[in-house]
Amino acid sequence: MQIAENKVVTLNYTLKDGSGKVIDESNDGSFVYLHGAQNIIPGLEDALAGRSAGYTADVSVPPEQAYGVRDPSRIQSASREMFPADTEIEPGMQFHAKGPEGQAIVIMVVSVEGDNVTIDGNHPLAGVHLNFDVEIIEVRDATAEEVEHGHVHGPDGHHHA
Ligand code: ZN
Repeated sequence: MQIAENKVVTLNYTLKDGSGKVIDESNDGSFVYLHGAQNIIPGLEDALAGRSAGYTADVSVPPEQAYGVRDPSRIQSASREMFPADTEIEPGMQFHAKGPEGQAIVIMVVSVEGDNVTIDGNHPLAGVHLNFDVEIIEVRDATAEEVEHGHVHGPDGHHHA
């Protein structure tokens, strides 16, 4: 069975950045996604379309087809008052916030100088060239319910709370 819209794909992968450092991996058959539902980055989804179980490949995905390029305007100054008063704010800390379109984003503290906190709202993988070692384990038809929800359900049916 070939990968196409509304197929559920089980995928093993190792994800490395441009320098070969492993960022993420799943090699036990536990990663599944619904093809065509924007569950995974576009560059990887495109590379898998039309393939079937047993296919292996090295897929190279530029930032534009992954998490986007880094946007300097997302590096901003914030007041210390915007952060929890009882927490020591240090570079590298991450907080959840709302982006310009109301979407959930993670902001990272870049530096702290007195009352002024510099934050970076870029995705941690923005600007990163991604390299995937992939192996397709299984391809099956999605159920009507999975298509409706836009994501995969577990073997026993519905898994969300
Ligand atoms: Zn669901």
